[in-house]
Amino acid sequence: MSGPTPSLMEEMTWVEVRDAAAAGLPVVLPIGATEQHGPHLPLNTDCVIPVGIALEVSKRLPLVVAPPVRFGAKSRPLSGGGETFPGTLSLRGPTLIETLHQVLAALVRSGFRRLCVQNWHYENSGYLWEACDMTASEHPDATFVVLDRPLPEFKSDQLAQLFPQGFPGWNVEHAASMETSLMLTLRPDLVRRDQMVDDAAERRPTWEVIPAPDEIVPKSGVLWRPSEGSAEIGRLYLRWAADRLETALRTEFAL
Ligand SMILES: [Zn+2]
Repeated sequence: MSGPTPSLMEEMTWVEVRDAAAAGLPVVLPIGATEQHGPHLPLNTDCVIPVGIALEVSKRLPLVVAPPVRFGAKSRPLSGGGETFPGTLSLRGPTLIETLHQVLAALVRSGFRRLCVQNWHYENSGYLWEACDMTASEHPDATFVVLDRPLPEFKSDQLAQLFPQGFPGWNVEHAASMETSLMLTLRPDLVRRDQMVDDAAERRPTWEVIPAPDEIVPKSGVLWRPSEGSAEIGRLYLRWAADRLETALRTEFAL
C-alpha cells in the first residue's frame, strides 16, 4: 500500500497543513472542470493536468497543492464542445467566482499568505482574477499569483517540437494533441486509446453563436487530432508548464 503523496493537501492532516502554512509555504490551487473530452479522455482531464503540473513543481520547491476546483465555467462549443454532452457539469460565472472566492478565503484562514491559482479549463479565464482580487481586498497581507492562461508562450522551435505535423492554433486544442499527450504522460491508464478519433467542426466562425448551430459542434467532442499526441510530447508540455509555474512562484514569493 502506498502512503500519502507529499504536498497533496487532500491527503494531509490539519496539523500538517497548519505547519506548512506556518512555514510560509506557497499553496497552489488548481482550477479545472468536469467536462467531456471526446470518447478517449476522462471527464477529469482538466483537473488531472493542473494538479500534475503543480505536483511536478513540488518536486523542485516545497509547496502545498490544494484540492482542485472540479467544476468550471460553462463549456463553449468552439473551445470545449459546449454543454450538450453527458457528463459535462459546469457552473455559472457568478457561482464560480464566489466558489473560488470562498475557497481562497478558507486557504488564507488556514494560514497561507502566498497563494497561486493555476488554471487549465479555458472558459475559466477571467473569473480567477476576479476571485483573487475579491479575496485580496479582504486580506491585504496575502499575495495572489494568477495563471489564467494555462501554458507559457512557446517559441517557434518549441511549437515545432509540440506539433511536428504543424501547429493548428490553440483554439482547437481540446481533447486533441495537447491534452491527449499530457494524459498519456500523467495518467495513461485513463486514456481509451482504442476509442481515439480525430475530428473537427464543419464550421469554425471567429465569433460565438447562442444557441450554437449544430455544425460548429464536432460530433465526437474532439476539436482536432488526438492521434498526433504522444507521451513524449506530453513530457515537454509538463516540463515547460512546470518551469513557468516555478518561475512565477520563485519570482513573486521571493523563494
Ligand atoms: Zn480540457
